[in-house]
Amino acid sequence: CDEIISIIHSSSMPIPTPLVSRHVAVVGAGAGGLVAARELRNEGHSVVVYENQSRLGGTWVYDPDVESDPICQDPSRTMIHSSLYDSLRTNLPREAMGFRDFPFVAKDGIGRDARRFPGHKEVLMYLEDFADEFRIGEMIRFDSEVRYVGLVDGGKWRLRSWEKRDGEFEDVYDAVVVCNGHYAEPKIADIPGIGCWPGKQMHSHNYRVPEPFRDQVVVLIGSAASAVDISIDIAAVAKEVHIASRSAKEVALGKQPGYKNMWLHSMITSAHEDGTVVFQDGSKILANVILHCTGYKYHFPFLDTSGMVTVDDSRVGPLYKHVFPPALAPGLSFVGLPWKVVPFPLCELQSKWIAGVLSGRISLPSQEEMMEDIEAFYTKLEAAGIPKRYTHNCADCQFEYGDWLATKCGCHGSEEWRKEMYSQSSKTRHEKPGSYRDEWSNNQLFLQALEDFRKFLP
Ligand code: FAD
Repeated sequence: CDEIISIIHSSSMPIPTPLVSRHVAVVGAGAGGLVAARELRNEGHSVVVYENQSRLGGTWVYDPDVESDPICQDPSRTMIHSSLYDSLRTNLPREAMGFRDFPFVAKDGIGRDARRFPGHKEVLMYLEDFADEFRIGEMIRFDSEVRYVGLVDGGKWRLRSWEKRDGEFEDVYDAVVVCNGHYAEPKIADIPGIGCWPGKQMHSHNYRVPEPFRDQVVVLIGSAASAVDISIDIAAVAKEVHIASRSAKEVALGKQPGYKNMWLHSMITSAHEDGTVVFQDGSKILANVILHCTGYKYHFPFLDTSGMVTVDDSRVGPLYKHVFPPALAPGLSFVGLPWKVVPFPLCELQSKWIAGVLSGRISLPSQEEMMEDIEAFYTKLEAAGIPKRYTHNCADCQFEYGDWLATKCGCHGSEEWRKEMYSQSSKTRHEKPGSYRDEWSNNQLFLQALEDFRKFLP
C-alpha cells in the first residue's frame, strides 16, 4: 500500500534505497504542526493537518475572550486555546526565535512590528508568512477537532474528527504526528483552606488585560516568564501585587526595587475565610484576587494508546528523545514537548527527523534499544535529583539535543549566534525583567545572524 516514490542517490551507498511515502495526519496547525507539515511533505509524504481553530498559528492567535471557568478546572467549560495576554511581546529576540531557514526578520507592511522583541501579532504574521511561502494552508482542515486517535490492525491509525460544518469524519493514516501544544490545560496551586477563601481566583490562561485588577490586592503565584510579565502589567493599576514564588531566594524577598506596590514572598501556606493569605515567611495579607501563573499540563484527550503512552507528573512517556514511543514508533510521534527551549527551530529539527524516519531515510534503533535509552535517561534524571515533572525541561541540553537531531537528519547543527543570543536574553530577562526587551546591546550577534540569513533572504 505504501508507494515507493524516490531513490536516494549517494556515492557512499551504491545500492539505491527506496523512500516510502506515507499518509500522515498532523494534529494542530501551530508553529509545530506547520513545520511538521512542511517537512513531511518535503520528504514525499501526503499530509493532512487538523486544526480545531479557524486559522493557523496556535498559541499566537490572540483571543480576547476567556474561558467560562476562571481557574479552568470545570471539564465542561468553554475552552480557549491561546494563553496570550494583550501586552505580550516575545521573550526571545526575533532572529533567535525563527525557523532555521525562514528568518524572522523585520518586514515593512501594515500592522508589522519591527522591534527585536515584537508583540504577539507580529509572530502570528510571521507564521502566516511561513505558511504562505510553503503553501501549508492547502494541507490544513480548519475548524476540525481531532477527537480520537487509536491504533487499528495492520499498524495503521484511525482518526476521528469533528468538523464544525459537516460533523464527524473518520480517516485512516499510516502515521500521526501530535502537535497540539501544551499551554492550554492549566494547572493550579493546591492551597490549604482555599475552599473557604472568599476572594476571586483565576489562572493566567485567562489573563488578558490589567484593567480588572485596578485598585485590587492581587496575589500572583509563579515566577516563570509570563508570571513576571503579568505582575509588571498588573502593578501599573493594582493597589498591591504580592508574588508567591517556590523558587524565590531569601535575599530577594520583600518589597521589589523599582516598584512601589510589588512584594516577593515565599510560597503560600494557607488561605482563610476572613480573606487573608499567609505565606511561608510568616507574612499575611488581605487579598482580593489569587492569580495562578502555575503552568500547564500535557494533555492528549483524543489519544488512545491502550496505556502505551501515559502522562505522569508532566512526564509524557516512554518517549525516545521526547518524540517516539518505542512500542508505537514510527507511527506515532510528538513534536514540541520540550520546554525552556527555542521552540520553532527545535520543532523544525524534530519534524525533519520524524519525516526522515517515516520515509525510511533515517533508521531508528530497535524497540529494546530505545527503551534502554529512555531508562538510562530517567535514571540519570533521578540520580541528579531532577524531579519527574522536569523530564521535558531541556533548558540545559536544548542545543546538544538539537545537534543530535541535526546529525540524524544530515543537516547543520545550531548556529553559535543563536545559542549565544538565547543565553544572553535569558540572563538579561532575569536581571532586568521590565526593560530587557528594549535594552539589547550586542549588535555583533545580530550581524552574524543576518550574515547567515543571506542565503535564505531574497
Ligand atoms: P500551539 O501553538 O499551542 O499549537 C497547537 C495547535 O493545535 C493549536 O492551533 C490548537 O488549536 C491545535 N489543537 C489542539 N488540540 C487539537 C485537536 N484535538 N484537534 C485539532 N487541533 C488541535 N515561544 C517563543 O519562541 N517565544 C516566545 O516569546 C514565547 N512566548 C510565549 C508566551 C506564552 C504566554 C505562551 C503560552 C507560550 C510562549 N511561547 C513562546 C511558546 C509557544 O508555545 C511556542 O512558540 C509555539 O507556539 C508552540 O507551538 P505548538 O505548535 O507546539 O503549539
